[in-house]
Formats: sequence, structure tokens, C-alpha cells
Amino acid sequence: MQKMRINIYKELRHFSLEVALRIEEGEFIAIRGRSGSGKTTLLRVIAGLEEARGVIEIGNRRWLEDRKALPPQKREVGFVFQEYALFPNMSVLQNLLYVKKDLGFALHLLKLVDLLEHKNSFPHQLSGGQQQRAALARAYMRRPKVMLLDEPLSSLDPATRGYLQTKIKELHQAFGTITLMVSHDVAEIYRLSSRVVEIEQGKVVQEYGAKEIGKRHQLHKAEVVEIDEKSIVVAFMGDIFRLPRKGSHKVGDIVEVEIKELQLV
Ligand code: ADP
Ligand code: MG
Repeated sequence: MQKMRINIYKELRHFSLEVALRIEEGEFIAIRGRSGSGKTTLLRVIAGLEEARGVIEIGNRRWLEDRKALPPQKREVGFVFQEYALFPNMSVLQNLLYVKKDLGFALHLLKLVDLLEHKNSFPHQLSGGQQQRAALARAYMRRPKVMLLDEPLSSLDPATRGYLQTKIKELHQAFGTITLMVSHDVAEIYRLSSRVVEIEQGKVVQEYGAKEIGKRHQLHKAEVVEIDEKSIVVAFMGDIFRLPRKGSHKVGDIVEVEIKELQLV
């Protein structure tokens, strides 16, 4: 496990991307910001897919120094985008082996994302969630030190998203990766990340601990969908959560909930 330091500068069309970040070992960073604020460009610069000036350093390895950039394939980095990026003409297993010919590790990763029984399926035979799990497993084939996730769950339905969040967290912990994930989903950020970085017009405008996001986005309206003796179950932002019962409610009520109380069902 290693620390990361990012200090980059890049001219974009209407503003410049200027980001300085120090990331501790094993941190999970959520990146938030409006559309067009530079989030994807930042991840692409870290991956080496776009040029920039500055420094990107992992441990004592320099991926970027001034304009001298290590090519993407030499950076220990994994990348998952919103759209599934699997090769359509290869099976799931072939997709992983294309990255690295390590059958044992490929099977290990497919087991971690519960896709072992689909290893010979082709992408079009899989659901969106299964494809994203395969893309995630493939992104781990090179044992990356840094995992970049660009809204990887935003096109999935809520139940699938919750399941994938669990897998993302498990892989992040199992491999001790530094993960940077672009997300707009407050509940998702609260569940997965340790720190939130907000970007506006290419600059970091705020940084705070992820558990604070509950305070910043204090009360949310949620619909009660189930009640038992001790708890109520509410639907909120497309997910289903259980929280302690306080006061009297009935199914269909709209209640105000605090993010930090929520437990995913
Ligand atoms: P986000 O992912 O936050 O929506 P992007 O990183 O995709 O934002 O884009 C940020 C801004 O930079 C946009 O205005 C886009 O038009 C511009 N941009 C993206 N790539 C380049 C590039 N290679 N050169 C110049 N401008 C770019
Ligand atoms: Mg983007």
C-alpha cells in the first residue's frame, strides 16, 4: 500500500484543470461536481490517457513529472467507465485474460464478483450489472494500485447498484487499492468513501470526510414501504433502507431521514 500525490495542470476549453491532492494508503475518494467540471478529464489524466503538466506520484514511482508521462500501460491503474467497455467478441474470461495471461488470478477475480458460472458467456448474454462486474474484475487484472471509477453504476437499476457497491468495496479492501470514484449519489458516497472532493470548473472547491456528507445533506424525504416492531423500511433515492422506528408511521407516509441512520436492506 502506498500514498499518492497529484498536482496537475491542464488547459481545457473554458477553464483550466488545476488539482492538488494527497491521498493516503487505502483511501476511497468520492469525486463530485457538476457535469463539465473536469471529473472525467482528471481521471483520464491520472490514467495517462490525456496529457497534463505536473506531478503524479504513487509511493516513490512517478507517473508524471512535468511533461514526462509514463504511458498508461505502465501505470498500475484500473479504469471502469459508465458504459460497459468489455470486448464484445470475447467471453468474460477471455476479456480478463486479454489484460494478463494469468488464469488463476482471473478465476479468483471472477469468483469475487460472483461471475464464475458466467465465465464463458459473452457480454451480450449478460445483464448490465453482470457486465459492470466483469469490467470491474477485468480492471483488477493488473493488480492496480489505483482504481478509477467514472460513474460506473449510474446506468444500473437500484438493486443492482447496491450489489455492485458491495463488490466495489470488497475489491477495494481486498487489494488495498486507492480508489477514486466519480459519483453523484449521496447515499453511495456515504456508504463507500472515506473522503469527498468537490470539483467546480476544474478546481477543488471543498474536501471533507465522507461521513460529513450526512450532515451536509441533512434531512431527506423518503417513503415508508414497510413497518415492523422495531424498524421501518423506506425507499430513498432508488434504494431500500431500514432504520430504527421512532414514533408512529404507516406505509405510504413520507418521512424525513438522516443519511447516517440508513442501513441498506
Ligand atoms: P465531467 O466529467 O466533470 O462532466 P469533463 O472532464 O468530461 O467533465 O469535461 C470538462 C470540460 O473540459 C468540458 O468543458 C469539456 O468540453 C472540456 N474538455 C474535455 N476534454 C478536453 C480536452 N482534451 N481538451 C480541451 N478541453 C476538454
Ligand atoms: Mg464525466
